Amino acid sequence: MIKSALITGITGQDGSYLAEHLLAQGYTVHGLVRRASMFNRSRIDHLRTGGQISPERLVLHYGDLNDLTSLRRLLKQVAPAEIYHLAGQSHVGLSFEIPEVTVQENGMATLGLLEAMRDLDYPVRFYHAASAEIFGAPAAAPQNEATAFNPVNPYGCAKAFATQLCRVYRSAYGVFACSGIAYNHESPRRGENFVTRKITLGAARIKAGRQAVLALGNLAGQRDWGYAPEYVVAMWQALQVATPRDYVLATGKSCSIREFAIAAFAELGLGLKFEGEGVAEVGRRTDTGAVVVQVDPRFFRPAESTHLVGDASLARQELGWAPQVTGAAVARLMAKADFAHEQKVAG
Ligand code: NAP
Repeated sequence: MIKSALITGITGQDGSYLAEHLLAQGYTVHGLVRRASMFNRSRIDHLRTGGQISPERLVLHYGDLNDLTSLRRLLKQVAPAEIYHLAGQSHVGLSFEIPEVTVQENGMATLGLLEAMRDLDYPVRFYHAASAEIFGAPAAAPQNEATAFNPVNPYGCAKAFATQLCRVYRSAYGVFACSGIAYNHESPRRGENFVTRKITLGAARIKAGRQAVLALGNLAGQRDWGYAPEYVVAMWQALQVATPRDYVLATGKSCSIREFAIAAFAELGLGLKFEGEGVAEVGRRTDTGAVVVQVDPRFFRPAESTHLVGDASLARQELGWAPQVTGAAVARLMAKADFAHEQKVAG
């Protein structure tokens, strides 16, 4: 039987890779797209225009996390076997600027979907895109599924709320709900206002002579960075098991923003010269040919998550999931892709 899946957030980084993965597995994929003043489907255009995927196998539906009535209707109409709930305001730093939208979309909308699922008269499996930000400032590293929640930003609070609700609905109502507690995962499709993409785009544009300055925040910040296409495989695997559980999805290796920047610029043959403690305003070339970077305090967050590095042993044991691409390797492939794009644009 052909399986069908609904992806909220199909136009995002993860949603686009997940759509590719599910289509390759033979699924019919339904995607929720929200109305915007301009089309926002560039990450999935290749699936819709290549002629290889028939329109019946990839169907887009207008909807919005802030309109739960239409989501309920959509669930009834589509009757998916699996729901991958990836949509929401996903930027941690921005969650300090738009906390209510962040909490509404990442917290309350997840609750709304869980409630809608309870009312369905057929079984459905639900994946919730949780985040390492639920741990925020953890007491120990690495973190695993048993680590206590301690979020330090509105985004982490909302994800913690939704993660706990999935646990409650699982035990109280027997709902098949699973949270993937994912650490940062990047790709050439990462949004341009995330630090990794800012760095790799900056490197590509500086190399192409199209950008002079790159302002970065706290370069000492450490992250457990993986590669998004590997993470969407785990999302799918998490819904193929007999019993739903939460899984930490992480590489287990941490890399600083500074190291990430060095790797990205080095991939394009550019050296970085660090001044003082940090790195910051990129763009000025020294007499040695290196690019100087300086820290811009505007990009510091009111509170930083610390020591976020994950232990994905459970996912490895139960799902057989073992990510291969980490930290500097992610930086290199992103910088390469961004520079290739720059060259294409330049003709
Ligand atoms: P992303 O690229 O920012 O994509 C977010 C998606 O949500 C987009 O498709 C966006 O639509 C959609 N969306 C936002 N608000 C919406 C609304 N009100 N109604 C309907 N759709 C809405 O994020 P991502 O990197 O793919 O991440 C996917 C999920 O995993 C997110 O929930 C994120 O918080 C979580 N997560 C990501 C990471 C990571 O490192 N990438 C780590 C942990 C957890 P538009 O295209 O129209 O903006």
